[in-house]
Formats: sequence, C-alpha cells, structure tokens
Amino acid sequence: MTRSTLCYRCDSRYDDTQRARCDCGEPLWFVDEDAAFAWEKIKDGPAMWRFTEMLPVATPDGIARTAGGTQLVRSPSLDDITGCQLYVKDEGQNPTGSYKDRGSAVAIPHALEAGADVVGTVSYGNMAMSTAATAASLGRECVVLVPTDIPKARLELIAQYGPTILQVEGDYGGLYEEALRLTQELPIAFLLSDAPARISGYRTAVWEIYESLRPAPDAIVLPTSSGGLASGLWRGLLDLQEAGVVDELPRLYLVHTAGSDPITRAYEEGRPQVDALPVGESEESIAHSIGNPDPPSGTRALTAVRETGGAAISVSDDEIRTAQRQFAELGGFCVEPAAATPLAGAAGLSEGGEIGESERVVLFTTGTGFKETGVGDRSVCTDTVSRSALQDTLASIIEK
Ligand SMILES: *Cc1c(COP(=O)(O)O)cnc(C)c1O
Ligand SMILES: [Zn+2]
Repeated sequence: MTRSTLCYRCDSRYDDTQRARCDCGEPLWFVDEDAAFAWEKIKDGPAMWRFTEMLPVATPDGIARTAGGTQLVRSPSLDDITGCQLYVKDEGQNPTGSYKDRGSAVAIPHALEAGADVVGTVSYGNMAMSTAATAASLGRECVVLVPTDIPKARLELIAQYGPTILQVEGDYGGLYEEALRLTQELPIAFLLSDAPARISGYRTAVWEIYESLRPAPDAIVLPTSSGGLASGLWRGLLDLQEAGVVDELPRLYLVHTAGSDPITRAYEEGRPQVDALPVGESEESIAHSIGNPDPPSGTRALTAVRETGGAAISVSDDEIRTAQRQFAELGGFCVEPAAATPLAGAAGLSEGGEIGESERVVLFTTGTGFKETGVGDRSVCTDTVSRSALQDTLASIIEK
C-alpha cells in the first residue's frame, strides 16, 4: 500500500493515514500513487462511488453509498446577476442536504477500517448531521460535541439520528485541538472539518464538474469557513492536473461573511498565512454554517486561491439575503444562507471585472435551505379570494 499523508506546504510525508497535521502545523492530505486519477478508472456505480478506484475505501452501504453524484445545473436565468454563463453545483441534493456527506462517506468507513469503535465530530450544524446520519446508517455509535448555547432547533436536527450529544462548556473554538488529542487517547475517531479522509471525499465534487462540463469551467465560487472544502476542491483539481486532464486550473474564489473573514484579510494584506481573528472581532452572521474565526485549513485555502489566481472575498448579510432570494425566485433553488454567498460573491466579482461575460462559472451551493424553512420568520403576502371569483381573478392576473 503506497497510501500515506502528505503536507502540501513542506512536502513531509507520513505513513500514518489517520494523522491529521504535519509537524510544521499545517493540515495533511492523502497521497496514493496506486489510485491516481484517470477517466478510464471511472466505473458504473452509485453516486460518487463511480470514482471508487480513486478513493481510499470500498463502496460502503447505507447513506454513504448515496453521497455525491449531484447535478450540475445550467442556470441561464441567473446569468444577468453574475455577468457570466452560470452553472450551479447543487450540493443540497446530498442525503443530509450538504456537501459534508461526501466527506463523511469516506472518512467514517476509513476510520472504522483503521480500528475506531466510535466516530465523532465537533459541530452543531451540517457536519454534525452528516456524521451522525452516516454513522447511524453504518450501525455505528457517534459522539457529537456541541456548545452549550446551541439553538434548540439545531439540536433537534442532529438528535433525530440518535448520536450521543455532549454540550461542552468553555472555549468551543479550542475543541479542534482537543478532539485531535482525544483521537490519540481513545478508540474514538473525531473526524473534523479537514480530516484527510474527508478531503479525499470532497475531491469527487470537482471531478464530477469536469465530467459534466467540458471544456472546463473558468472559475469556481464557494463558501468558506474552516477551509476544508476549499482544500478538497483544490486537491481534486491538482489530481486532474497531474493526470494531464487539465492544463490550467480554474480560479477558486472563496467567499466569507464580512463578520468573520480571516482568509479575506490575509489575502488582501498579502500575508503568507491566515491568522485567527482577535477575540471579539468576529460577528454573528445569518450564514451560521460559515464563520470560523480560526480556520484550521485557512492557510491551505489561501494557498489554493493564490495558486489558481482566484481571490478571497467577503459579503454582508444584506447581500446574502438578496442572493438567497434571487436563488429561489430566479433559479428555483432553496439554499441556506451560507450556500447563497457564492451568488453574492460572483455578482461582486463581475461588477469588479474579475469575471468576464463569456466565462463559464460554477457556483458551489453547499447546503439546502429546506432545513430552515417554515420557522415563520418571513413575511409572506397573499391575497384571499372566494371560490366563485377564482376564475375572474386568475384571468386578470394572466392579463397583467
Ligand atoms: C461546512 C459548510 C461550509 C464551509 O466549509 P469549510 O470546509 O468549513 O470551509 C459552507 N457551507 C455549508 C452549507 C457548510 O455546511
Ligand atoms: Zn508541513
């Protein structure tokens, strides 16, 4: 077996494929010379498991089997907003409604094969749901660490899959390091945002994009928090480049919320690494799935931006609200606020001349909005009409 973990920054290589971080402090990803990307290796199979020969685990059972394989949707009705030819990679179609399922589908079987009895994660959002649901469908125990101030609605979404949920007091942000340490101490594998096996699974999204869109897209715009997704898409692109499938990589544009944007700041200031925002400098946003003030894969995501000629940008909550509405009213997509940020970001990029009219741009919509509809906090205007007046009313509407 040639599989090992590798540091993108200093090239250090480790035999331990469960290892998450390099001695230099940066996150690791897999290398596996025997599983290099090649079109010929794509087989018939369910969802993302068509790429099974390039993945580190065999096709699993349960919902892991149905992760990925989402549609790339050409959406001309949104072209005007973004000033380009627009495609939407609709990751809300995943079994628990977010792209996280691609990572859980690989990381959980991988950890079980390596001898973990129990899997776990640190999250009170999509990562928690995805990990708990995937573990449940494989008949395994799952532990989810959440903060004490978690909203009840989010707790219910996670709890339905039956994991052990622990509300942890104290500094929730610091739990990333603590969870990595606990993975060494106990037969429980905490699979965090940038676990190498998750990154391995995220690559499939970019391979699918290249399969359905030839020639290649000019740019991919995605929401970013911890930098795990950005790392996975970049790694997938590098795989394609190493296989000679692509010459020039599409530009990766990462979108943060303005209230918590450590990668944008580092990018704009030309810094070599992403630093955690000073305590008290990050603000809550409606885009609750993205807002990590200390992204574990931040520097790697920043490197992806620089290496592909993209940018890191930030959008306000007002811009996110507008984009979420436009996605639904003009595109027919119900996305959560975090997943609306690529539309807001792309609109700004085209205004600034970064994106050209003839360019083909993929917006990566990371999560469905169906989890948060129906809470009754949106004003909806309707008219009331009697049965007998229905025909006349419809006729007058059509005339308009
Ligand atoms: C997790 C998540 C993100 C951010 O991904 P990172 O890997 O943390 O950068 C974006 N959108 C949604 C909907 C998510 O659940
Ligand atoms: Zn290193």
